[in-house]
Amino acid sequence: MKQSQLLIPTMKETPADAESISHKLLLRAGFIRQNAAGIYSYLPLGYRVLRKIEEIVREEMERAGAVELLMPAIQPAELWQQSGRWEVYGPELMRLKDRHGRDFALGATHEEIITSLVRDELNSYKKLPMTLYQIQTKYRDERRPRFGLLRGREFIMKDAYSFHATQEGLDERYQIMYDAYTRVFSRCGLNFRPVIADSGAIGGKDTHEFMAFADIGEDTIAYSDVSNYAANIEMAEVKHIPTQSDEDELPLDKGQAISGDDRLIMVQWFKVNDQAAAVLHRAGDEINDVKVKNHLNATMVDAFEGHPAFNLSELKNKDVILLADNGVQNVVNGVIKEGEQVAHFNVNADRDLKAVTFGDFRFIKEGDPSPDGEGTIHFTEGIEIGQVFKLGTKYSESMGANFLDENGRSHPMIMGCYGIGISRTLSAVAEQYHDDRGLIWPASIAPFQVHIVPVNVKNEEQKQLAVSLYNTLSGQYEVLLDDRDERAGVKFAEAELIGCPVRITVGKRASEGIVEVSLRSKGDKEEVSIEQLPEFIKEHLK
Ligand code: ATP
Ligand code: MG
Repeated sequence: MKQSQLLIPTMKETPADAESISHKLLLRAGFIRQNAAGIYSYLPLGYRVLRKIEEIVREEMERAGAVELLMPAIQPAELWQQSGRWEVYGPELMRLKDRHGRDFALGATHEEIITSLVRDELNSYKKLPMTLYQIQTKYRDERRPRFGLLRGREFIMKDAYSFHATQEGLDERYQIMYDAYTRVFSRCGLNFRPVIADSGAIGGKDTHEFMAFADIGEDTIAYSDVSNYAANIEMAEVKHIPTQSDEDELPLDKGQAISGDDRLIMVQWFKVNDQAAAVLHRAGDEINDVKVKNHLNATMVDAFEGHPAFNLSELKNKDVILLADNGVQNVVNGVIKEGEQVAHFNVNADRDLKAVTFGDFRFIKEGDPSPDGEGTIHFTEGIEIGQVFKLGTKYSESMGANFLDENGRSHPMIMGCYGIGISRTLSAVAEQYHDDRGLIWPASIAPFQVHIVPVNVKNEEQKQLAVSLYNTLSGQYEVLLDDRDERAGVKFAEAELIGCPVRITVGKRASEGIVEVSLRSKGDKEEVSIEQLPEFIKEHLK
């Protein structure tokens, strides 16, 4: 394509409101423009990258035996009422009414639509298993849209859904999708890792998130320095290692409290539906609300302060949930403190905390042993680019998606669901591949693989050679020709900003049939004769 005909509105200045490097560069290089908070247009270059990612996703989905369809963005409220999510999804779901006053939602996800479709069209075990996917625009009225495409309110997702007669069928499919995701993100060039995750509001059990490493990532990943273990910090299990002590247990609340941080036990209060829960933990540990929420099987827990003072004997007779992190079991003659107040001292778990339920309620810390028993935990930040879930029968039961088995008995279908943030993946790649001059696209998803830049288009020889190279190479590659009458410095700077993998500079030695080739990822330049050029490019785009 000729650059003079493309809309590539590059910017010299860094846009003030862009916080992340990917957001800044995608704006500056003219790949995207914002139309409203969290709502973007993909300009021609951005759209080309987006389509490349989509193509990779399509290829890997088809290879994994998933079949593409397209569902509507506008979804009737009735389906969300059937699943029960109309009430629980909250303000993230964008809702609207038609002219008759009927309620609709803009699809934040498509479990309801796909489950209703399959329910109405499939009812025999003979038709199962089945995996369907789509690539579509999703709408979520995020509280804090940020980082450009990374957290949008309108964004592009690949979502797949699988339907099974057996749990084994789902387990097998989950692994196939997991492997397909690994191939997708590898082909996009990302530095990523699948991690054990929390299933959140969507329901279900087994789930992994695929995390692209990046400093600005909103998720913390806990990983072992030795094994393959990696989990979202929300989920990373803490292994309880009991310790022994020779110290005598002193009588509860008698004598004097012995000070020392290793004796300190703190109280963290949560509101759970209409109940209060007190969670004891060692000072220096932090309670993980996701673990508390999952333990209590609650949809939400809210931390709060200012509950009436913590008193064991009173609280155990009241309607208060008493929990403690396993670590509290290792404290001898402990001091329970709520804020600055000592509530109890000489506390010993085996004797004094019988009414308390112990469990793994704290966040894992760097330096903790890895839960798989191999190595030590380290932290890193990640961007969630995809997630695979074993949903089970949550939607098939609430929405009546049943099938008949060989004996004519009816069962709810067992489901899985699998998402990839296509537009987020684009940003995640930009976040990982750049330098101070601009973007550096991996060849697999670059907007163009080859960028031809004649130094001076007014020079007939340079112009002709550039056009002739453009014509020959276009048969094999996607080539961008900078045919604009601009200063060489401007063209070079913009080429670096845009970040195509191979740049061919046609300059002074055009008359000898020699051009300069540079690789955006390496920066070194080499003179190459036009005879050797095709081989040279082929070698470097491998
Ligand atoms: P997050 O925790 O980041 O809000 P999520 O867990 O709610 O994401 P899913 O429902 O699992 O997201 O959606 C599947 C994929 O869609 C995610 O893995 C992510 O890549 C992408 N995605 C989710 N929300 C957004 C968004 N607001 N903007 C861009 N991509 C998104
Ligand atoms: Mg998710």
